[in-house]
Amino acid sequence: MKRMPLAADSIKSQLKKLAKEFALKYKGEWFVYAWVSKRENVLLEYIMGCPDPVYSKYGLTEKQRAKNISKFLASAEFRKCLKRYGGQVVYKKEWNKRRFGDNSKLLKLYNKFKKKDAIALLTMTNKKKEKGYLMKYILRHEWIHILLKKNNIYFQKKGRKYWPYDEGLNEYMASFLDNDLANLEKHMKNEKYPMEKKYWEYAIKFRDLLKNKKGSLERKNFLSYLSRL
Ligand SMILES: [Zn+2]
Repeated sequence: MKRMPLAADSIKSQLKKLAKEFALKYKGEWFVYAWVSKRENVLLEYIMGCPDPVYSKYGLTEKQRAKNISKFLASAEFRKCLKRYGGQVVYKKEWNKRRFGDNSKLLKLYNKFKKKDAIALLTMTNKKKEKGYLMKYILRHEWIHILLKKNNIYFQKKGRKYWPYDEGLNEYMASFLDNDLANLEKHMKNEKYPMEKKYWEYAIKFRDLLKNKKGSLERKNFLSYLSRL
C-alpha cells in the first residue's frame, strides 16, 4: 500500500527548494516541531517578548512583562488570545529553563529537544480545519524562520524592533514558493490584523529589493548583506 507523504515531509522538500533558490545551507535535522496548548503558546509568546500589541501593552522588555503577568492573565485580552491558533519558534538560547520551573510539560520539551537550536511550536487542536492550516502554512512559516536563522540571516540580532524584516522576508519566501509574489498587495489589503499587515508590507519591500537579483548566490549575498547593515 502506498503511504501518503507526511505534511512535514512535504514542507521539508519545499524548504530544500527554497535553500537551493537562495543558496542557503539546508539540513533536514534542523527542523523539528512539537504541540503545545493554546495557553502555553500564548504565555510563551508573552514572556519571550513577541511584539504583538496585545502583549506590548504589558511591557516591552521581558522584565516588565514578567512583572505584569498576573494583570495579563486576568485580562479580557488573555481570554481572547486563548482562542487563537498558530505557532512560534523557540530558540534554545532564549529558552531559559528557570522561567518554566513550574511547568513540567515545557521542561519535558526542553529535554526532548536538547540537541536542537530551535523548535517550532504549534497549538494543539481537535479541529480538522485548524490542524490542516497549521500543518500546511504555520509549520512552514516557523521552519522558514529556522532556515534563515541557521543561515545567519536574522534581522533581530540587532534588536527586537527589527522583527518586521524577519517576518516580511519570511512571507516573501513563502509567496516565492507558492508563485504568489504578484498578489502581495492584495493580501496586504485583505489583512485585518495590524501586525500581520506589516508582514505583507515588508514582504513587498523584499520583493522589490530582490527583483533584479537573478542568481541564487546573488540573492543570498544580498540578504546576508542587508541583515548585517
Ligand atoms: Zn513569524
